[in-house]
Amino acid sequence: MRALILHGPGDLRLEEVPDPEPAPGEVVIAVEAALTCATDAKMLRQGAHPALPPVPAPFGHEAAGTVVAVGEGVAWPARGDRVAVANSAPCGECFFCARARPSLCEHIVYLSGAFAERLRVPARIAARNLLPLPPGLAPEHAAMLEPFACAVRAVERSGAAAGDEVVVIGGGVQGQLLTALLAGRGCRVTLCDPHADRRARALSFGAARALDAPRDQEGVRRVRAAVPGGRGADVVFEAVGRPATWEAAVAIARPGGEVNLYGGCAPGTTVTLPTFPLHYGELRVQGSYHHTPEAVREALARLAAGDAPYGELIGAPIGLEEVAGVLAASGPKRPVIPRGAA
Ligand SMILES: [Zn+2]
Ligand SMILES: [Zn+2]
Repeated sequence: MRALILHGPGDLRLEEVPDPEPAPGEVVIAVEAALTCATDAKMLRQGAHPALPPVPAPFGHEAAGTVVAVGEGVAWPARGDRVAVANSAPCGECFFCARARPSLCEHIVYLSGAFAERLRVPARIAARNLLPLPPGLAPEHAAMLEPFACAVRAVERSGAAAGDEVVVIGGGVQGQLLTALLAGRGCRVTLCDPHADRRARALSFGAARALDAPRDQEGVRRVRAAVPGGRGADVVFEAVGRPATWEAAVAIARPGGEVNLYGGCAPGTTVTLPTFPLHYGELRVQGSYHHTPEAVREALARLAAGDAPYGELIGAPIGLEEVAGVLAASGPKRPVIPRGAA
């Protein structure tokens, strides 16, 4: 089969490799659609990542397809079943899993190899985070499972409730998914982004209003002034991943409010936070990373329900040979359709 293999920084090669054979517990799927992801772009630049096996490594982690082979001991799925797969699964037994924090699992297993005609799903993921493709759901939408599950997890972890004024900073894929989920809960969402097209999209994803990004103190004041009540937001989500935006997120929350630091910043970066609102304002500030098996199931149900125009988040389909070029440029997520898939 044809597969993209990462060999090092910037070195992604389309190769002819043997079809994967499933070991006990494993499932092999013919990829109908994979999706590019900002994490892939980062992995390609760096040539290594904690979620990647050592190079040369099969590449890509968002996919849906049809089962073509199952290993010994697999009760479900069977050959011919259409499935969606998450990009990881927790062990269920470590310190963190035992404390109901599977997103912090010490022995997490990651998926890699979605940019290929066939994808081997590790036994742990096959057992815990491989799900039937809901009827009528396009595979390129189902492949959004991982990013959407992360957003589901972040919203569940937050205290955002119906009627709350919620500010989402960042109108990329994650900001839009957060907006859809929060609006679905009955929150009034204000989305902030410098790009007019993303602001317009947020309104169709359920935002009550969309504003320019808070780039400085004046921008922070402008966002606070736009939130009814004049006290700041009940809940803020930062979905950009820059230290300056993390600081803006804290400045936009009202006393007693909550800040969710969802966008991951570059390694080694730091932020400076004002002590008064944290202490006298009793702010709650928390990170949110990755997803849980429950969030994966919720995300797939939402995608199947089609309760937001999720298709707007992905661009035109590409072939395997175009992936490296697309990842080097910035742009929307693109469905990758590997030719020759069974
Ligand atoms: Zn991803
Ligand atoms: Zn664990």
